[in-house]
Amino acid sequence: MSAPAGFRLLLVEDEATQRMLMERLLRRAGYVVDTAASGEEALTKIASADYQILLTDWDMPGMDGATLCRRVREADLPNYLYILLLTGHTTTEDVVAGLEAGADDYLRKPANEAELIARLNAGQRILRLEQSLRDANARIELLSNTDPLVRAFNRRYLGDQLEREAEYARRHQSPLAVVMADIDHFKSINDKHGHRVGDEVLQNFVDRVRTLIRPGGDWIARYGGEEFAIVLLHADVTAAATAAERVRAGCAEKPLLTSAGLLTVTASFGAAALDLAAPPADAIDAMLRDADAALYKSKHAGRNRVSIAA
Ligand SMILES: [Mg+2]
Repeated sequence: MSAPAGFRLLLVEDEATQRMLMERLLRRAGYVVDTAASGEEALTKIASADYQILLTDWDMPGMDGATLCRRVREADLPNYLYILLLTGHTTTEDVVAGLEAGADDYLRKPANEAELIARLNAGQRILRLEQSLRDANARIELLSNTDPLVRAFNRRYLGDQLEREAEYARRHQSPLAVVMADIDHFKSINDKHGHRVGDEVLQNFVDRVRTLIRPGGDWIARYGGEEFAIVLLHADVTAAATAAERVRAGCAEKPLLTSAGLLTVTASFGAAALDLAAPPADAIDAMLRDADAALYKSKHAGRNRVSIAA
C-alpha cells in the first residue's frame, strides 16, 4: 500500500526520535514528507508550502496539536488540508475536543503502523473527492461565465466582472472604459447565407477583435445577439475611442473567412468611460447606457464608425 506520488504531508512531532521514526515510515509508504518540531513551526511551514495532509502530535510544548488544528482551520488556505491528530488522550471528551478543533480523524499513540497507513489512505480518498468537486465547480463556473457559441464571456460575467474592475478603478483612480460593438447588417448575413454562416461570423468577429485589443488586460463579452462589450482597462474615453477605431479598421479592412467564402463584415462602435466619482453600481449602468447611446449614434450616422458618449 503506497501513496500515489505527490501527496505532500507535514509531520508535526516534538520528540526527535519519534519524529525520525515516523518520517521514515511515512516515506516508505510513499508520502512526500516534511517535518516540524512544534505547532509554531508547523504554522509557518503551512503558510509557505502546499501540504495536503497534516499529521500532528497533540502533546507538544508551546502550541498543542488541538490549537494547531484550530489555527489551520481559521487560516484561509487555497486547498483543503486533511488533519490526522495523534493523541495519547483517550477519553471521549478529548477525542471530541480534537475533532471539534478541526481534525478530520484521530489515532491513539503509540500508533500502529498498519492502522496509521490505513487512516492516511482514507484521508487520501477524502482529498481526491474534494479535488474532483473543486474541478467540477471550476468547470461549472467557466460554463456559467462563457457564451458557448463565441467562447467569449457572457453578459452575466460582464456584469460581475465590471463591478470588480470598477471597484479597482475607483480605488486607484485609474480610468476604465467600455466600447459597445454591434455587427452591421447582421440580419442580412443570416438571411443571405444562413444561420450557420451567421454563427461563424460571430465567432470570427470575436477572434478578430481579440487580435486587436491588448492581450491579458482588455477583454470582450457577448452582450446579446450580435452586440459585444469590449472592456478597456486604464483607458479614458479618448483612449477607448482610439482603441475602438483600431478594432473597427481591423475588422473592415480584412474580410472574415467563412464556409460561404470571404465576407467583409463591418461593425459600429460606441465608447464611454466610467465616472470615477459616482457610486460604482450607478457608474457602471451609466457607462453601459452611454456606450449604447454612442453606438446608436454610429448606426444612425451610417454604420462602420466609432462615436463617443456625448
Ligand atoms: Mg509530544
